[in-house]
Amino acid sequence: MDDLLFRAFTRRDFLANAAKFCFLAALPSTLLGCARTEQPSDVMESENEIEDENDVENKEPEDDIENEDHQESEENSAQPRSDFEPAYLELHRTGQLKERAEELWAIMEKCQLCPRRCGVNRLKGASGFCRTPGATLVISAYQPHFGEERPLVGRGGSGTIFLTHCNLRCVFCQNWEISHLGRGSETSIEEFAEMMLYLQEIGCHNINLVTPTHYSPHILKALDVAAGKGLRLPIVYNTSGWERLEILAFLDGVVDIYLPDFKYWDGTMSAKYSAGAENYPEVTRKAILEMHRQVGVAKPAEDGIMQRGLMIRHLVMPNGVAGSEKVMEWIAENLPKDTYVNIMVQYTPMHKAYDYPEISRRITQEEYLSVVQKAKDLGLTNLDIQGFWWLQRL
Ligand code: SF4
Repeated sequence: MDDLLFRAFTRRDFLANAAKFCFLAALPSTLLGCARTEQPSDVMESENEIEDENDVENKEPEDDIENEDHQESEENSAQPRSDFEPAYLELHRTGQLKERAEELWAIMEKCQLCPRRCGVNRLKGASGFCRTPGATLVISAYQPHFGEERPLVGRGGSGTIFLTHCNLRCVFCQNWEISHLGRGSETSIEEFAEMMLYLQEIGCHNINLVTPTHYSPHILKALDVAAGKGLRLPIVYNTSGWERLEILAFLDGVVDIYLPDFKYWDGTMSAKYSAGAENYPEVTRKAILEMHRQVGVAKPAEDGIMQRGLMIRHLVMPNGVAGSEKVMEWIAENLPKDTYVNIMVQYTPMHKAYDYPEISRRITQEEYLSVVQKAKDLGLTNLDIQGFWWLQRL
């Protein structure tokens, strides 16, 4: 019976069909409730599959803004709370945010924003490995997202902005239309800042920047503009984890919540499935330690909403490809035991995954449970075990 949970009609399946329906009905922007949504069927990167299915199926985003539930969310701190000040405000006041943005921008002249270190001149329109069109910002969608981790979602949703292109280009990517093909719209810094302010205005709890690495200069510039116009939400840096320490230094005091993946333990695997990124494990381990140094352990406020800290995501993959148990061991040995770790169950073969037989299926119940058990045995106490509330009691 429990095994059916892995094979049943999932929320992603639901979203895929819903998106097709919306498209056919020519109503995508109305139903999805945002000004610009080239939203793929599977943008929900982190899905709390079972319980959240109900949330999504009952959700009518356009109506959410008006309905009773949304009004209740505003009362329950969907708006920035008076006792919270995001990290970037101080840097904005002193002018350092603008300075850092300019310094990061200049790095694009010989782009070294990520570990690929292509060295291309993006300021003159060149594209590197990530395929970002020079210094042009392309955004796919922005909207309240109710499929992220619960402390980010609350009642108002996580204010998610989907940035196009990617420096890893995993063969199993769920959002490949956005990350590989760059499907989105050219966006100015001012428009980017307005998106952030819009998400704040409609009651989101944070600004969640998905795949931000190659756009870090644009993010700091837009944040400086938005802060000047009243943005007060925490910034969530929703990254693959493959970050250079030199670039993370620019984000110190800017980012409130780091949300990195820790995808692989073994460099052979990252090289195979993520376009030759053999140093992914080594680079990511260092990056996660630095993120923890900057923001500390993630602890929600009294109302359950996260405002600051490190939240690690680990996607369990079939046949032990991700090295999940080793990943848990490293976290237990190198970070506090109450580090937030989301053990993600929803691996689904997408894009080119069927070219690799070992990752061409979903995971089994046994594969997932063994990782959870390992994490528990290691003494990790702050596990996000998606859809498996009963495992919390084991
Ligand atoms: S951000 Fe893009 S262009 Fe810059 S180093 Fe990374 S992959 Fe290359």
